[in-house]
Amino acid sequence: MICWLEHIVFTVVVAVLVKIGINEGTEGVLRTIVVTLKAVPGVNWLIHLVLRSEVRGFVKQIETKQGKKQSTGPRVTIPAKGVPHDELYKEMEVLKQGEIDPEDGKIFAYVYTAGSENFKIQQKAFSLFCEKTGYSGDHDALVTAFHHAFMHENALNPMVFPSLRRMETEAISMSAGMLNGDDEVVGSLTSGGTESILMAVKTYRDRAKKLFPQIKEPEMVAPITIHPAFEKAGHYFGVKIVHTALGKDYKAVPGLIRRAITRNTIAILCSAPQYPHGVVDPVSELSDLAVDKGLPLHVDACFGGFMLPWVEKLGYTVPVFDFRLPGVTSMSADIHKYGFGAKGASVVLYRNAEIRKFQIFAYADWPGGLFGSPSMAGTRPGGNIAAAWAALKGMGVEGYMNMAKQLMDTTVRLKEGINKIEGLQILGDPHMTAFSIGSTDSEIDILALADNMEEKGWKVERQQKPSSLHCTIMPHHVNVVDELLEAMRESAKAVKSNKALSKKGSAAMYGMVGNIPDNGIVNDFLVEFFSEMYK
Ligand SMILES: *Cc1c(COP(=O)(O)O)cnc(C)c1O
Repeated sequence: MICWLEHIVFTVVVAVLVKIGINEGTEGVLRTIVVTLKAVPGVNWLIHLVLRSEVRGFVKQIETKQGKKQSTGPRVTIPAKGVPHDELYKEMEVLKQGEIDPEDGKIFAYVYTAGSENFKIQQKAFSLFCEKTGYSGDHDALVTAFHHAFMHENALNPMVFPSLRRMETEAISMSAGMLNGDDEVVGSLTSGGTESILMAVKTYRDRAKKLFPQIKEPEMVAPITIHPAFEKAGHYFGVKIVHTALGKDYKAVPGLIRRAITRNTIAILCSAPQYPHGVVDPVSELSDLAVDKGLPLHVDACFGGFMLPWVEKLGYTVPVFDFRLPGVTSMSADIHKYGFGAKGASVVLYRNAEIRKFQIFAYADWPGGLFGSPSMAGTRPGGNIAAAWAALKGMGVEGYMNMAKQLMDTTVRLKEGINKIEGLQILGDPHMTAFSIGSTDSEIDILALADNMEEKGWKVERQQKPSSLHCTIMPHHVNVVDELLEAMRESAKAVKSNKALSKKGSAAMYGMVGNIPDNGIVNDFLVEFFSEMYK
């Protein structure tokens, strides 16, 4: 046991670490202190005490900014009587009030819109297939239909919602064709990129289990920019994701990936493009490596799957990244991003049905009957399938090409404009409609610039390692190019002439987190944060 004095000393040390961060000279020493102290039994709760108070302060700050309305009372219960619908609608409108409107063109992530017509047809599809087959209809029958569809391909009862099976298969087929897959390519429609990725990781884990039973601690090798959904999948499914460093061009380095491959490696992962900087990994070299090593290669095209093919057709330089490469065994691509589909739609594609078999879950012993399921979800909303299908058919190649052209024009103008702002620079050589911005001037803290932009209503995304800002370009940005460049120019000036700005807001917060020597503490901080936000 440690005495109360030590408790206090320890608390103060942690508080100092968390609050002020660590400068480079003392980092090693402090890391040792933290790791040692954390190992002392019974003191972990102290760390959490400090963390919790930090997190509460941070969440309070956010809530004050957003106003009271987004925080609820201590416990909300289901109303005894249903709220009249017009009243309910008003309540929803109030909740939406004052929230950022994506159509203003001031946010650079999350929302992909392609005009109201595109959404109208999807809404129609959604409601048609929701009412008929989704939540409000006989959805057990829908689930059964899907289980059968994937368990015994030929034993599907074509009487139960054959329309959805057909729409799903067509959506997969259209996506596979776009990504240059041949007739062997199969896949599944999922609820989003994360589910597609979960499925790919699960598939390769189970494949390795069957083919290489001697592997007890499976690993996958990926560049550090691979989406966290893989880390999440690894966490869920017991696969270690081994990360390799990036080259100066922000791409994966094939040599490093080759060296990271061990007897436990069961797959290689890369992105087209990776999200943070918008650059496509050297998929062709990685494909050769995969073939050479006899390993599967998953290309995460969640972000670019529905954009890169059109950018390539427009004549821009896009490295080959899809099923044209013999080593590519699977891909993920999000319909709900640049496919301009309603949220809740992505595809995971496999080179052939032999690989996909490992994705399917089957269980024969349930008293409720033979159970089988292709993906994570049990019940799957029919509306999402219909809306995804409607998005692909409604946009068509012409629609996607027009959109890609507009967005690439906008991106090129923005990249050129930003590179002209003194002290700012586009990182690497991004391949499509997304890029990141770094600072070349030690007096411009790029995160302070983000804070300054935010005060003017522009929400650019903050990134770390290195500090940078991320912009995904969407249709609502087409008409705000000059305005955005002007705002950025002003913010760059403001930050340069006022050093104090980098000690406040998210700049300070990222600075603090970036300086904590122990990642476990940062993770604890994040968990506390989510726990507090969703109270
Ligand atoms: C968005 C994204 C994902 C995850 O997709 P969700 O739909 O958010 O689950 C995975 N990889 C990349 C590259 C992405 O951009």
